[in-house]
Amino acid sequence: MNFLEERIVRDGIVKPGNVLKVDSFLNHQMDIALMNEIGMEFHRRFAHKPITKVLTIEASGIAIGYAAANAFKVPLVFAKKSKSINIEGDMYVAEVESFTHKNRNQVIVSKKFLGPEDHLLIVDDFLANGCALQGLISISESAGATVEGLGIAIEKGFQIGGRVIRNLGYHLESLAIVDAMDAETGTITFRPQV
Ligand code: 5GP
Repeated sequence: MNFLEERIVRDGIVKPGNVLKVDSFLNHQMDIALMNEIGMEFHRRFAHKPITKVLTIEASGIAIGYAAANAFKVPLVFAKKSKSINIEGDMYVAEVESFTHKNRNQVIVSKKFLGPEDHLLIVDDFLANGCALQGLISISESAGATVEGLGIAIEKGFQIGGRVIRNLGYHLESLAIVDAMDAETGTITFRPQV
C-alpha cells in the first residue's frame, strides 16, 4: 500500500451510498504533510509534462491543487461554482453535476486566467462519475489549452468516471483506486498499482 492507501485504511470511513468519508485528513480537517506528499507524487508522475498551470474546482480541490501547483512551481486556477445564469462573456462556463450534493452547478473560470498557451494538470480530491473532471476538461477546451494530464487523490474504481476519462485518451493518475468498499464491515479494497 502507498502512503495514501494506508491513510485511507486508517482514517477513512465507508458510508452507505458509495461515499467514502475522509474528512479527518483530506477535505474538512486537512493533514498538510499528506497534502504536500500528494502534490509531490503528482509532480513525480507528471514530471515529463510541460505543465504551466494546475486547474481544479472549489472547494475541496483547492488544497490538493495548491500542493500540486507548489510542487510544479506554477499558478493554481480553481473553477468557481456559480448559481447565476447571467454569466458575463469574459468567463468560460461548464455545467457540473455534484455527486455528493446531487445538484447541478455552473462552474466558471475567468478568461484572464486560461488560454491557448496553457498546458494544464487538472486535479481533484475524488473521482466518482467524472462530472467534475468533464466540466474542467470542457473549460480547458473552451480556452484552447492543452490538458497534459489529470491527477486524482482517490478514485472510486467501481464508478464510471475513471473508465470514461481514460477512454477519452487522457493520462489519468489516481493515487488510490478503491475497487470495492463495504459500509457494513468497513472493508476497503484497492486496485493494485504498478
Ligand atoms: P464526480 O464528479 O466524479 O462524480 O464526483 C467528484 C466530486 O464529488 C469530487 O469533487 C468530490 O468532492 C465529490 N465526491 C465524490 N465521491 C465522493 C466520496 O465518496 N467522498 C467524498 N468525500 N466526496 C466525494
